[in-house]
Amino acid sequence: MVKIKLLIFCLLVSFGLFAQEYSYTFRFFQNSPMKGDYFFSKTISSGDSFIDNKQGKLPVSSTVFHTPGNSIELNYMNTKSGSWSATLYRQEIRGMDNFKPASHLSFWIFNPSDLTTVKDLPTIQLMRKDSSLTKKQYISELPVAKWHQIMLSLKSFSNSSENPSDTYIAVIFSQQNTINQQHILYVDDVECVSWSPVVKPAIITENLKAKGYSKHIDLSWEAITDSSINLVKIYRSSDGVEFRAIGIQQPYINRFTDFTGETGKTYFYKTTCLSQHYEEGPFSSIVKSATVEMNDDDLLTMVQEASFRYYWEAAEPVSGLALENIHGRHDMIATGASGFGIMALIAGTERQFITRDQAVERFIKIVKFLENAESFHGVYPHFLDGTSGKTVPFFGQRDNGADLVETSFLLQGLLAAKQYFSGDNENEILIREKITAIWEKVEWDWFRKTPESKFLYWHWSPDKEWIINHNLIGWNETMVTYLLAIASPTHSIPASMYYSGWANQDSTGYNYRANWGQTSDGATYTNGTSYYGIPLAVGVSNGGPLFFTHYSYMGYDPQLITDEYTNYFVNNQHIAMINHKYCVENPLKYKGYGYDGWGLTASDGPFDYSADEPVIWQDHGKLAPTGAISSFPYTPKESMNALKNYYNNYGSFLWGEYGFKDAFSLSHNWCSTIYMGLNQAPMTVMIENYRSGLIWNLFMQNEDILNGLIKLETETNSRKK
Ligand code: CA
Repeated sequence: MVKIKLLIFCLLVSFGLFAQEYSYTFRFFQNSPMKGDYFFSKTISSGDSFIDNKQGKLPVSSTVFHTPGNSIELNYMNTKSGSWSATLYRQEIRGMDNFKPASHLSFWIFNPSDLTTVKDLPTIQLMRKDSSLTKKQYISELPVAKWHQIMLSLKSFSNSSENPSDTYIAVIFSQQNTINQQHILYVDDVECVSWSPVVKPAIITENLKAKGYSKHIDLSWEAITDSSINLVKIYRSSDGVEFRAIGIQQPYINRFTDFTGETGKTYFYKTTCLSQHYEEGPFSSIVKSATVEMNDDDLLTMVQEASFRYYWEAAEPVSGLALENIHGRHDMIATGASGFGIMALIAGTERQFITRDQAVERFIKIVKFLENAESFHGVYPHFLDGTSGKTVPFFGQRDNGADLVETSFLLQGLLAAKQYFSGDNENEILIREKITAIWEKVEWDWFRKTPESKFLYWHWSPDKEWIINHNLIGWNETMVTYLLAIASPTHSIPASMYYSGWANQDSTGYNYRANWGQTSDGATYTNGTSYYGIPLAVGVSNGGPLFFTHYSYMGYDPQLITDEYTNYFVNNQHIAMINHKYCVENPLKYKGYGYDGWGLTASDGPFDYSADEPVIWQDHGKLAPTGAISSFPYTPKESMNALKNYYNNYGSFLWGEYGFKDAFSLSHNWCSTIYMGLNQAPMTVMIENYRSGLIWNLFMQNEDILNGLIKLETETNSRKK
């Protein structure tokens, strides 16, 4: 899909930065999310020299570290007959693209042995984006058995004044002298910093709280506003006396998840704040909580609440809407993810994670922001600056205008909210009125490009018009766009476009589908083949990534959508079952796939963001929890088994502040460090639709939506005659 291509494109182009965006530390290493070895590393050795590695990756130590939970272990032998090197690559994360100015490369080393001298230590170089290397630098002092900060001036690596975030992609440690002796060093917190005086923080985390779940404890505290704080450090004890450091948290997240893996145990916690140079402030008060037995219902609520938090407490504060990913940009909101988040907020209100008054207050903020935010023919861009309401061309200058699909996802959420806030009071009336105004000003018909067009078009730019020129052809995640366009009371398109455009069966549609699916299966919209004994009425290839079965059907109840070819609940169910069977068969023999490990869909990955699907050419060995868990209405048993497997067996790396991390790959010993706005909410919402039908029922009560479905049904019936 072009959407995916655009995502990749965006990583290749640079964009203007907003002065107020959060500045990250330009960091090469702080912790490996996985035990054993660090994915973003590479070792090389020759002759009799060696550096310890696991399939070419650097080992990590979970017992010796500067910041908990681990450090890089350099266990090496220098010889005359060879050499070794170890490279730490900086992990690129979407939207983590604004950095603090830096003057030095800083890292911490721990030398356990008094036999090692500075001459035995590795040299240090930086690698540029073009793979060229800077000059070598050396470590000139080495205390024994204590963590020691090394600060090397960036100017000493390169004569020119290179800005690290524009220039460097890796740090390389390599053999210095040639004496036969084995050495072990631990390296941690490798980052570019400005020189600043060492200051001990005076502040503590306020109002520390702990809450126990089945196998983890959630800690939370009041948001930290002191910008000099680098990290929060968390200590755990099982007796309230002996504490040990177990983790860190970035200063902009006031929550930490401690997955202990044990049920029915009591734990005590306290925290400290760390300065830029890791000077530690005073301890907070001590809190305690116990892990508790939880039944299936409790687990579902736990997953719903954790993902809900992404849209509640981690929302962009001015607009109240959803960020693209965390960690990522702090001021930029994603319109589609915000629509999904709106449905998660409704589910969270009904589950009493927040009060109705809190929800009303948030929705007033949301609708007032959207009322004034930039739109084009009533259609919002993919990304908005939450502080100003202006378009952010995050995917490049061509995408600086309307995004009809993202706007559809947003409207799906807003129309569900319009039904939910049905109260006869000033606030709820205001929410409904503003949503109606937003809905009625969307010029769906204008996005035909020409009056005779069979298709809707995805994008429009105010200065480049239809330059992206992507017509919407199904079947994929964009069905909601045609359904809403048909349903619009003010700017509707003819229902015939459902068949001429969305389900187009001439060469335009055929070629489009055959191109993205890399197969003729389903290229005519209808499919008609059985996979693993499961018939597929509609869908390209053998169904595609699972988000196709989620994004359009969080508000739209697929049980009520039947066209000439199929019913979309049944079709989605079959697609989920095919995805499951493929993962059980696991033709590429990836670790972790199987009856309880399945769900190929679009997510972050070890090498790139990709839309994985159950065919060998689109299966990269990564599983995204949202794939199986957002399929709950279709495959309740298989989805529950995956949920339990992911939480119980992989929770130590996969479970965090906002629920499941985006994706993981056991074959690559990799786990994503981010949560994505498009992937968290579908878990909350689709579990809710499975449990109570809440969002489906609300959305389908909307008169315009019902009228749209009647128009489609009339069109379908007229075609049968
Ligand atoms: Ca560390």
